Amino acid sequence: MSAASSRVAQIAEHVGGHTRVALVTGAAQGIGLCIALRLADDGLDVAVNDLSSKVDLLEEVVLKIREKGRRSIAVPADVTQDQQVKQMIATVAEKLGGLDVMVANAGILLVKPLLETTPDEWDRSMTVNTRSMMLSYKYAAEQMIAQGRGGRIIGASSIAGKKGSIGLPAYCATKFAVRGLTQSAAEELAKHNITVNAYAPGIITTNMGADLAAGFESLRIDTAVPVAEPEVVSSVVSFLAKPESYFITGQSLSVNGGAYFD
Ligand code: NAD
Repeated sequence: MSAASSRVAQIAEHVGGHTRVALVTGAAQGIGLCIALRLADDGLDVAVNDLSSKVDLLEEVVLKIREKGRRSIAVPADVTQDQQVKQMIATVAEKLGGLDVMVANAGILLVKPLLETTPDEWDRSMTVNTRSMMLSYKYAAEQMIAQGRGGRIIGASSIAGKKGSIGLPAYCATKFAVRGLTQSAAEELAKHNITVNAYAPGIITTNMGADLAAGFESLRIDTAVPVAEPEVVSSVVSFLAKPESYFITGQSLSVNGGAYFD
């Protein structure tokens, strides 16, 4: 057996007798919900996070995951808050026996031209879309390093993190930042067998996708970008979460129907 294939074989879905554990943020709806269900289908136990105002939706997701025969807990928290993120990851590790796959998915959209964007709107975009990512990556990495069995950290970038767009200066800046964070973390964490990647979707049919379309329409921005359902993203995350993806790190994978070529 080659060194590479033996390494894959060592890290199966069941590492040393335990089922791998994932945590997905912003999982009450949309892309996060779809990712959580897909990882459960893949055989992982899955903890789901969103704001405490969405705890009822989160509990429904937990039930759906349990119906698939997997363990699941809801860990409501505001992922912009340092101590809440730290506590969220500690709870997942304690209740589900560790953390192997961190999906930092939570995010917000701001459709506003530069000339109308206020400093407060800018700060809020940066806080929810980048500070939250830093905290999620950091505390997940800390937990994974302590466990000593490698791991997968996966974050939400966007086609808006690859190419600037009319009406999206703040949002684009946050999603470009996710790529910088992802690349740097990938370099730092490689020695711990932790890969760090991001997904960079085009327009996806979620509440945010609808808000984007409505925002573009109100600003009379004509876009011919193809639209797809969240499953096109969850299937990529499913692959990135798998042991066999160990040779892919620091990447932000485009999932955009050909709207933009890297
Ligand atoms: P969505 O608005 O449907 O869901 C996002 C979820 O994140 C919501 O449930 C929200 O409550 C949660 N959230 C927001 N702030 C939070 C916080 N501080 N703490 C915890 N949870 C919080 O959005 P979506 O379309 O599912 O997008 C998911 C991710 O994918 C986002 O990061 C988004 O920027 C990115 N993305 C979406 C699209 C798209 O077209 N939908 C395209 C590219 C990238």
